[in-house]
Amino acid sequence: MRVVIGGGSGFVGRELTRLLKSKGHEITFISRQPGPGKITWADVESRGLPPCEGAVNLAGENIMNPLRWWNESYKKDLVSSRVNTTRILAQAIAASPTPPHSWVLVTGVACYKPSLQTQYTEESEWTPFDFLSRLVKEWEAAGQLPENSAKKTRRVIIRPGAVLGRDGGAMKQMLIPFWLGLGGTLGSGRQPFPWIHVSDLAGIIAHALEPKEEPSTEPDVFNGVAPALNTNFEFTKELGKTLKRPTIFPVPGFFLDVFLGSERAVILTQGQKVVPKKTLESGFEFQYPDLTSALKEIVGH
Ligand code: NDP
Repeated sequence: MRVVIGGGSGFVGRELTRLLKSKGHEITFISRQPGPGKITWADVESRGLPPCEGAVNLAGENIMNPLRWWNESYKKDLVSSRVNTTRILAQAIAASPTPPHSWVLVTGVACYKPSLQTQYTEESEWTPFDFLSRLVKEWEAAGQLPENSAKKTRRVIIRPGAVLGRDGGAMKQMLIPFWLGLGGTLGSGRQPFPWIHVSDLAGIIAHALEPKEEPSTEPDVFNGVAPALNTNFEFTKELGKTLKRPTIFPVPGFFLDVFLGSERAVILTQGQKVVPKKTLESGFEFQYPDLTSALKEIVGH
């Protein structure tokens, strides 16, 4: 299968590419910069989608960039880098004479309102309530296909929690403080911490790319989270145990609010109990269903 991946050069894209290539698939990245094995977003806009059987969008300005101050210009970049690239891909799929059979968009669990009690599945109703949930709404809407295209191309939305892996994402930023014994719970530590190992997220995307029977006009939604429901406290203690380091320095919520901006700090100080109900029902088997196995693979040697 030929697969076109927007933002494929990033953390999740590199893992997905490894997996798809190991299965014999051919990959083309869509990037901001031209290069070998890549086309640019401008190429897709002007020349259309290259012939492919699968399309994925992973593009987006990094939301946890510690070097970017939380302000209107950053927020604009977070939205436009996701919504515009998704729209370009959806329009190119709709205009293609040979459209792919699968179109997979990776968004996030920020659509679900943080709560200590409520459990969310893919079937849970949600309405936007803050900046990040409004972003998810606009992002997913940008991926819609017109009715005649939706009959030919199956649309899938995957909503991951924090993606854990050795060479990117949240772990990369956490490892040094934890190694130095300066790690600790964030805020109260009681908040849910939805997470997934990057190999499992790549696996869910690859699973979603497989051709299926008759596509429907509604997208198939899969929560990209491990089935273990953990809190930030449990994650912190398990990471400390795996690294054999103390985790005695809690980071107060107000510090994160000031340092990251309260609209973004919610990702760390609050959380959602997210259940991968449809992901499991689809037959997907997690390689790392619990924190012990995931963290052992990532930092256990
Ligand atoms: P990365 O931060 O690694 O970025 C992916 C790619 O996006 C980059 O390689 C880059 O490709 C492209 N990109 C970056 N900034 C911009 C921009 N301003 N405009 C257009 N393209 C840009 O992302 P991940 O691989 O970690 O995540 C993939 C997707 O999954 C993202 O949309 C992210 O929001 C979502 N997600 C990730 C989570 C995580 O924990 N990592 C959690 C939940 C959701 P290039 O340089 O080639 O243009």
